[in-house]
Amino acid sequence: MISKAVVEALQKYVPEENILLQEPMAGHTTFRIGGPADCFLQLENEEQLKKVQRYLNLVGVPFFVLGNGSNLLVNDKGYRGVILQIGQKMSEIVVQGCRIAAKAGASMAQAAQAALKHGLTGLEFASGIPGTVGGGVVMNAGAYGGEMSQVVTQVTVVNSEGETMEIDNEGMEFGYRTSTIKHSPFTVTEVVFCLKPGDREAIKGKMEELAARRRERQPLEYPSAGSTFKRPEGHFAGQLVMEAGFRGFQAGGARVSDKHCGFIINTGDATAADVRKIIGEIQERVKEMFHVNLETEIVFLGWEDI
Ligand SMILES: Cc1cc2nc3c(=O)[nH]c(=O)nc-3n(C[C@H](O)[C@H](O)[C@H](O)COP(=O)(O)OP(=O)(O)OC[C@H]3O[C@@H](n4cnc5c(N)ncnc54)[C@H](O)[C@@H]3O)c2cc1C
Repeated sequence: MISKAVVEALQKYVPEENILLQEPMAGHTTFRIGGPADCFLQLENEEQLKKVQRYLNLVGVPFFVLGNGSNLLVNDKGYRGVILQIGQKMSEIVVQGCRIAAKAGASMAQAAQAALKHGLTGLEFASGIPGTVGGGVVMNAGAYGGEMSQVVTQVTVVNSEGETMEIDNEGMEFGYRTSTIKHSPFTVTEVVFCLKPGDREAIKGKMEELAARRRERQPLEYPSAGSTFKRPEGHFAGQLVMEAGFRGFQAGGARVSDKHCGFIINTGDATAADVRKIIGEIQERVKEMFHVNLETEIVFLGWEDI
């Protein structure tokens, strides 16, 4: 539990209406799953973030940086700490020539739309990824041959001392669905993309084509966190899940999608425990049958054993 003294201190840095106590995380994840966070802060700018981060580090209160919660499984018991949400309140986008500077809370779709408006090509892949630019750069999000690592030139972060730092593409150490930030106490505040001039109609056409492919193949009509597992080398995770007999497999309200076995969906009343049960069973059986370790792509929050 967060003490009254901590909440009072946070009120000095963040407007009171942006501080939510015992906030259900189910309302902030695309899985629509997750118990209450002790304290949930909706940050409006880098200055607030710096002060809050410095203070929480000083007093030793745990915190977690949240984007759109589209890659997240939060425990049913919630999170004992402070959630720092970098979302729509920090989402300004500035385009200059071929350079797009997006605040970390802008959605990937907003960044892609800005590129389209200015006739810039390179971000079409991002238009259907339901995360923020900050979450996207941390996860090195990608789809249909495109990836953040191909278009990001500079990332602005706040470190644990509350100082601003710039990281270039090489310093990001991008890998498959990972970057250096995934394992560092840095919070992304801005991402700079370097794109190429393109034909507006062709860019729009590409986005529409990718959106149609998603609608056709992914269970977008249900809450989920996207692909549950990373692609193991030499295999497709969804195919292994299907071949292991899990299509339509259900635990409580969670179900392996019939449309795309790589997705676990929330059919209405799924708990985080239901989702973890399915993940565990799949990993065990896939290991037994195919000798492949399926690593999760989704991020777990509030679990003591992860
Ligand atoms: C239907 C669906 C389809 C999807 N399709 C794709 C796809 O095609 N390709 C793909 O790569 N992913 C896909 N995803 C997964 C997800 O959208 C991406 O991983 C996305 O990049 C996560 O962004 P987010 O803002 O939601 O991050 P969150 O889920 O909020 O957080 C993810 C991680 O990033 C960290 N983080 C978030 N913001 C910041 C920040 N500002 N600073 C520091 N750390 C931060 C969090 O602490 C956490 O560790 C899909 C998800 C869904 C639900």
